[in-house]
Amino acid sequence: MARGGTRLNHLLFAYDRVLFGKAKSEEWKKLMDMLKVYERALATKKNLWKRKAVENASCPICGFEEETAMHVMWQCPAARDIWIGSIQVIQKWSSVEDNFLILWEKLIDKLTDKELELVAVLMRLLWLRRNSFIFEEKFKDPDSVIRSARAVIEDFQEARIDESKIKSPVTIGSGSQRWIKPTQGFIKANWDASLGTQNLGLGIVLRNGIGEVLACACYKKPPVSDSTLAETMALWQAVELSNELGFRVILEGDAQVMVQAINSEDEDFSLGGHIVEDVKVVLRERRAWKVQFTRREGNGVANSLAKKALLVEHD
Ligand SMILES: [Zn+2]
Repeated sequence: MARGGTRLNHLLFAYDRVLFGKAKSEEWKKLMDMLKVYERALATKKNLWKRKAVENASCPICGFEEETAMHVMWQCPAARDIWIGSIQVIQKWSSVEDNFLILWEKLIDKLTDKELELVAVLMRLLWLRRNSFIFEEKFKDPDSVIRSARAVIEDFQEARIDESKIKSPVTIGSGSQRWIKPTQGFIKANWDASLGTQNLGLGIVLRNGIGEVLACACYKKPPVSDSTLAETMALWQAVELSNELGFRVILEGDAQVMVQAINSEDEDFSLGGHIVEDVKVVLRERRAWKVQFTRREGNGVANSLAKKALLVEHD
């Protein structure tokens, strides 16, 4: 499925997150499986209609066809406007395609990595636009959707450049204060939080044994008053992401007190204690996973992603 049969750079979207990175074919397969689940889970009108939650299944935007995930992101005339305005190769493609995986394979085959990134971000924005149309009665015009997509991609490219500046094959940083590669068979997930006045930014980066980024994610959340709570929320996102991707992980962050709380037998009664206890439950099911402390210098990429998250515009 992957271009060249070996690996490809890709980007996936899912709800409020964007994943970038390189994936080997078996990892890619896992990601595709995940996408299938999302496809089924997307609360489109057709799905809701199947569950008898809405009166009819027609698209709220164009009012014609059944609203499936494929309709929202590909077939709907409102989606066609986006594709025609953004990626030349796609302009002449049929809008009749109704199988997402077949479409996605065709996209992988025909598009450059850069175009593929843009497609993935646009699909995510199409979905968010559909939601804001239904729930807030706002509808973004095609040009501003395409502009937002390009801005998202620029942000992530910067994050990648930040990383490559400080990256050597197995270590990042210098001396004893550096990112250290995970032991064989593991992925390392670094997390960090950045507290702004208006928002909380969470950043996560997943890297393999040679330091390649497999996925990264930024989340923008409402602000919290406590920095340990913020760190705990970031760890939770890292746990969820690793879980969804099916990785065996070493989770690493620079919040020493919280890492100690996670690894302690005692129940945590702090502000974020309920999350700490949730993480412990996951760790009991995944005995191989570890949560460990690293100095700030070893956590640079997660830190810059967390800061970046604060700058991400809400769609
Ligand atoms: Zn429609």
